[in-house]
Amino acid sequence: MIDNGPPDFREYLPTIIKENYGKWQYHEHPRPGVLKHVGPAGALYSIRVGEPRLMSIESIRDVCDIADEFCDGHLRFTSRNNIEFLTPDESKVDPIIERCEELGYPVGGTGHSLSNIVHTQGWVHCHTPASDASGIVKAIMDDLYEYFGSEVLPNKLHIAMACCLNMCGAAHCSDISIVGIHRTVPRIDHESVRKNTEIPSLVACCPTAAIRPDPKNKSVTIVDERCMYCGNCYTMSPGMHIMDAENDGLAIMVGGKVSTARTDPSFSRMVIPFLPNNPPRWPEVTEAVRHIVEVWIENARKGERLGEWIERIGWERFFSISGIPFSDKLIDDYIFSRETFRTSSAFKF
Ligand code: SF4
Ligand code: SF4
Repeated sequence: MIDNGPPDFREYLPTIIKENYGKWQYHEHPRPGVLKHVGPAGALYSIRVGEPRLMSIESIRDVCDIADEFCDGHLRFTSRNNIEFLTPDESKVDPIIERCEELGYPVGGTGHSLSNIVHTQGWVHCHTPASDASGIVKAIMDDLYEYFGSEVLPNKLHIAMACCLNMCGAAHCSDISIVGIHRTVPRIDHESVRKNTEIPSLVACCPTAAIRPDPKNKSVTIVDERCMYCGNCYTMSPGMHIMDAENDGLAIMVGGKVSTARTDPSFSRMVIPFLPNNPPRWPEVTEAVRHIVEVWIENARKGERLGEWIERIGWERFFSISGIPFSDKLIDDYIFSRETFRTSSAFKF
């Protein structure tokens, strides 16, 4: 039996994209939420709307109905959880926007605006979250909603949320990132490790070699000072309890970007080491994110991404202008950092 993999994506492209493929000439941005890409065969209009990230079958059917009615069935889900309806017909732009707004899908996320927020799985699905993902993102997006459909920011704003240090979202390279953090060494349930765990895999999964086999007890031990609270071991064994209601919380990082426009891509750096995990609306986190956004709006030059502005004025001035206290927790003093493959988002001595 041969696995031929997925079908060739070119089969599914709108005709206008096939015809302009490799020959695009320029693009324009006629209004918030609408992009126009032009090539020799004509223009393609993309109408961008925010989607709720976790979607019901009914919602997906609604969205597909819009694409069937106006776009010959063509749409795309972007990497930042937006939906773009694609049409070469300018007269369809307004009806698409109307239909999306009727269904409650906001139009925006283009140009100098807040794009939809990327997030990981949180309490809905994953093993190791220190906090929720979709709940926090909902609270932040509700608070910053005014910046999705307008274009009043200095440049685009990408926000990401990852609910543990494994950061399977885009937290390392977004303008503002919220990261769930554990702060305690896993508590070992030896009985569960003995009964439910492949011990060599558990030992091998630890990125800092903190887990050592304990053959006498048919279990493992942890060298506490080597642990960086990543939670990988809990993925391998239900006996490695990493969740801690009191000590788990959230850190905030800023200044990352993927784009090569104007300046090189950059990693984000941690600026707030800990905020409490306070569901259902996480007021401390939403307030901190809004504060950073407002300080950026007030002080950056037009066209500067958050990290570009900070690089120009210097991180010291960022802390003083924003009033965010610089703390020793933002400095990388992890004693084994040179022995491991660990890279750091923290400031160095
Ligand atoms: Fe799971 Fe961590 Fe990814 Fe969250 S960030 S979904 S806890 S691996
Ligand atoms: Fe190792 Fe991470 Fe488990 Fe700590 S939490 S013991 S660093 S796998």
